[in-house]
Amino acid sequence: MKLSRTVMVCLAALAAVFGILGQTKQPQDEEFARLVKEWTTKPEFMSPLVDHLPKAAGVPSPKDVLGYHIGAPQKLTYTAGLAKYYNALAAASPRVRILPAGRTDEGKEQLVVVVSSEANIRNLETNRSYLARLADPRGLDEAEARRIIAQAKPIYMFTGGLHSAETGPPEMLMELAYRLAAEEGAPFDQIRQNVIVMMSAAAEPDGRDRYVDWYYKYKIHETGESDRVAGPPYWGKYIYHDNNRDINYSQVTMRNWLKFYLDWHPPILHDLHESEPFLYTFSGQAPQNPSLDPILYAELPWFSNFEMTKMIGYGMPGVWDHAFVDMWSPGYLGFMASNHNGMLRMYETFGNGGANTMKRNVVPPPGEEAPPAPGGGGMTSREWYRPLPPYKEVEWSMRNNTNFMETGVISALELTASFAPTVLENFYRKSLHSVEAGSNEAPYGYVLPAGQPDMTRAAFVVNILRLQGVEVGRASAEVKLKEGTFAAGSLIVKLDQPYGRLAKILLEVQKYPDANLRTYDDAAWTMGLMCHTEVREISDKAVLSVPVTPVDTLSISGEVKGSGSLIAVLDNGANTLATLRWRLRDASFEAIEQPAKVKGAELPAGSLLLADSPRVRSEIGKLGLQALALDKAPEVARHAVDVPRVAMFSTWGGTQDVGWVRYAFDYFELPYDLIYKERIRKGGLRSAYDVILIPSQGGRGGKSIIFDLESKGKPLAYLKTAEFPSLGMYGESDDIRGGMGLEGLLELEKFVQQGGVLITLGAASYLPAEFGLARTVEAARPTPQVYAPGPIVEAEVMRPAHPIFYGYAEKTMPVRYANGPLLRVPEDGRGWVLMRYTGTEPSVLSGLFKGVAEVHNRPAILDVPVGQGRIIMFATNPCYRWQNLGEFGMLENAILHCNHIPGPAAVTSAEKR
Ligand SMILES: [Zn+2]
Repeated sequence: MKLSRTVMVCLAALAAVFGILGQTKQPQDEEFARLVKEWTTKPEFMSPLVDHLPKAAGVPSPKDVLGYHIGAPQKLTYTAGLAKYYNALAAASPRVRILPAGRTDEGKEQLVVVVSSEANIRNLETNRSYLARLADPRGLDEAEARRIIAQAKPIYMFTGGLHSAETGPPEMLMELAYRLAAEEGAPFDQIRQNVIVMMSAAAEPDGRDRYVDWYYKYKIHETGESDRVAGPPYWGKYIYHDNNRDINYSQVTMRNWLKFYLDWHPPILHDLHESEPFLYTFSGQAPQNPSLDPILYAELPWFSNFEMTKMIGYGMPGVWDHAFVDMWSPGYLGFMASNHNGMLRMYETFGNGGANTMKRNVVPPPGEEAPPAPGGGGMTSREWYRPLPPYKEVEWSMRNNTNFMETGVISALELTASFAPTVLENFYRKSLHSVEAGSNEAPYGYVLPAGQPDMTRAAFVVNILRLQGVEVGRASAEVKLKEGTFAAGSLIVKLDQPYGRLAKILLEVQKYPDANLRTYDDAAWTMGLMCHTEVREISDKAVLSVPVTPVDTLSISGEVKGSGSLIAVLDNGANTLATLRWRLRDASFEAIEQPAKVKGAELPAGSLLLADSPRVRSEIGKLGLQALALDKAPEVARHAVDVPRVAMFSTWGGTQDVGWVRYAFDYFELPYDLIYKERIRKGGLRSAYDVILIPSQGGRGGKSIIFDLESKGKPLAYLKTAEFPSLGMYGESDDIRGGMGLEGLLELEKFVQQGGVLITLGAASYLPAEFGLARTVEAARPTPQVYAPGPIVEAEVMRPAHPIFYGYAEKTMPVRYANGPLLRVPEDGRGWVLMRYTGTEPSVLSGLFKGVAEVHNRPAILDVPVGQGRIIMFATNPCYRWQNLGEFGMLENAILHCNHIPGPAAVTSAEKR
């Protein structure tokens, strides 16, 4: 094996010498060739595509601008450096242009670099219109389509650095841009001629700078796997690694990428990641989403096999496909391409989390094996899809990583350039098939009926669809279909449109194809179930001809009906009801504890009462709330709704899931202090806070919350300094290691004993049980027979009069199963159970739940009185990735009514209604 590889490398080198690859006509950067050879740890980790760098008069290489070649040890480039290089390149070369794509949370620019032939760059706008026409082929006849395909160039877009610890792609892309602009001969002439290449400078610019700061402060001293340092607590503002799971595009940076994609329609989007040895190229393995076009599933292995063929041909080991990530969830960022009839491509290459060269154990030493990746198994075994496997141990460098990535992507561009009309024709066919699928087979559409009690969540669903480019219409008159009669104003999604298949994927119930297959992420995401919003699937073809007016953005205006000095704001489950309380924080509010009939209208339990004023009416209007003006308060029990002081606790080592909760609280304007171990340890929590919320975070148990990052090595300060200005954001610490410890736990106990409300979500609910805060509650883990990748299941409300259920009218509700603890209460604690899982097969409403019987009748939410206070334990996660907005109201209620939660006995009698 070794010999043959060496021979192949030598042949490739000979080919280069004789100009077969065409680069010898240009003067070469001798220093580059010498240094990259030095930085590449084995000859077979190099290819003839990247072992040299031509010089082009007047066109700056990365080193000319940055002072170092790409892949240099211990060099990472900040976003300012990336922008500086790309701007210099664009200024010097008519083959390069920069396009702005928006700004991040922290105000950094999102840059896209375009490289192609001079003619293609000049014709960029014309080409954009060609691709837009193919993306929406309605009314386009076959001859016209052929004419466009003959003239258009496919855009092949790269995104790199979405995950900030995966540091290589933004570096590699600079060298790729230079090569594409400056290198003459094959395959570059043909690529420029036939393809428009686009690339992000960094897909997550905020995280890039924070990570590079952290790298230069701490990780640059790493020598190997044994002294590796934890990463920075934050990448971007909120959600860390989950920026690749933001299915509803909550984050401004991800929304900007989607907007850019829909502006330009790249038929191929290639997202560059790092994790697997040495290069895994995505081929779309099962389970595959059956709504997407079969063409896509043919294209993916077409590309990945070509890359394998080329790279194994160059003698590069460890290039493989097939067995890692599947095509089920549509929620990854790069899936914006396949969701819109393009082609998603993805790499995992082998990164060191920085730019240090170090020995890596590809196979962990005995006793340290991680559980096998979904469908992956050992990464070093020889398989049909991995004919030349990675080595078990390797000295690995940033330059190796660069060589693999760059060789792969140049091969992919070579294939695209060779078959550009096929890529374009497939893009056109997939778009056309999407329109046809909605015209020829059920379902033909979806209806969100008008007049739902809370239309704000219906608007959320509609506006996410709009953001995704899906057309939604408003019925101008009453609609009669086989499924029923829907009032004028109902929202209609017809599936005979280019993104009809995406609408179907997002709105339908997920029927998981094979319970024996594992999936890399969630098995279910059905938007109506997640939002507790009525979405009706329509198999009556007549829906396609219902007259509608197009909806751009759906905004719901609230209103106050009637007259009187007192306003009753109906609790119909709108999440903005809590927003109103905080927006009018100086006003006095009361909540009614039982439903009441007033002036012929029904006020649900939880409706808020406050004095009328123009400001009140204006806010009700803006927040989409429904209200009645009354002369006096209804004759039912009510309580004052105070403005509680809320702290949200985050570990330093697990900020991601907390980030989703922070995002939702910020969105709905619910104020909180974000606190860390430092504040907990200081004590005096009860005098400062009414509620402490511990979102799910950091692993699967209480221990990870109490002890967090291990205190090994040196202290890790997270502080803003002149040298490292991106650190110390969203919190500061002299040393992020060590966790709150048992002393912190005692402070939490004091808080509850003294009357505070502790709320734990998801896996954080192990903590009160495991550490005795809720002494008699048991928290068990499911057996290995359970496999529940985020299905949506039915839960049963046990105490409907409890304030947590204000705004919830039904006895059962869909919840996302969060893999939280299996809770058990003692006999005398039965009254603590607010909600439980039904745990039957029919209770699985969407997605896959193997072993659902294990959760049969297990508590989903507990309200446990402890001392003067209480602990509310959600085994669910009512604030999951900006998806289950139907459950979020329970968390809001737990906070808003924290001072007026009845004891179990009182509730039991009140609930016999
Ligand atoms: Zn990644």
